[in-house]
Amino acid sequence: MPNTLVRQFTILFAATLLSYCSSPIKPGSKQIIGLQPLGKYDTTQLSYIEKELQQFFKVPVVILHETALPAAFLNTTKGERYSGDSIIKWLAFNAPDSITKVVGLTHKDIFTTKKENGQIKKPESTYAVWGIFGLGYRPGRSCVISDFRLKTSEHTKFQHRLRTVVIHELGHNQGLDHCPAKNCIMSDANERIQTVDNSGVNYCGKCLHWLKH
Ligand SMILES: [Zn+2]
Ligand SMILES: [Zn+2]
Repeated sequence: MPNTLVRQFTILFAATLLSYCSSPIKPGSKQIIGLQPLGKYDTTQLSYIEKELQQFFKVPVVILHETALPAAFLNTTKGERYSGDSIIKWLAFNAPDSITKVVGLTHKDIFTTKKENGQIKKPESTYAVWGIFGLGYRPGRSCVISDFRLKTSEHTKFQHRLRTVVIHELGHNQGLDHCPAKNCIMSDANERIQTVDNSGVNYCGKCLHWLKH
């Protein structure tokens, strides 16, 4: 058995022995989170996300083999940006059946098209190719997080940003909408960098209650 498989198996085995009672997911729901590096991805950063998600959700987290972003997802009208919507549909379609939630991770810039009443939000030049930190449907099986817009020279601040965006998008995947509670990790303010830095580290009590019932 190759080392990576042994490692994944060991993690799965150990993690299934953990109690799920303090996890912010519905008790008894057997989730396995897969981290999918999209192209070359920083391995220290990958380990950081793996560790944070294991500690936070108390479910097994496995690292999937790196896969390249399809060139068809690239849009060049505002520099190089990959379609977040295309990525999450593709991730959900291609993830192994054993993975219940797949988190795509990229250093490339990603975008979505902001809509209002079914139309591209005006001005179209701004919102057709709108740069984002992450994207996850509600509910959904997959999300994607880019650190392209999260960069800062302050390492701790960067890690906080990354963790906040990953847990925010996984919250959407679990069915959570944006939350009006200021300190909640599901606050819509967390789609702006100024407020990600001040975000709380957890879902608020109301969101946690909703997730567990
Ligand atoms: Zn959101
Ligand atoms: Zn909340």
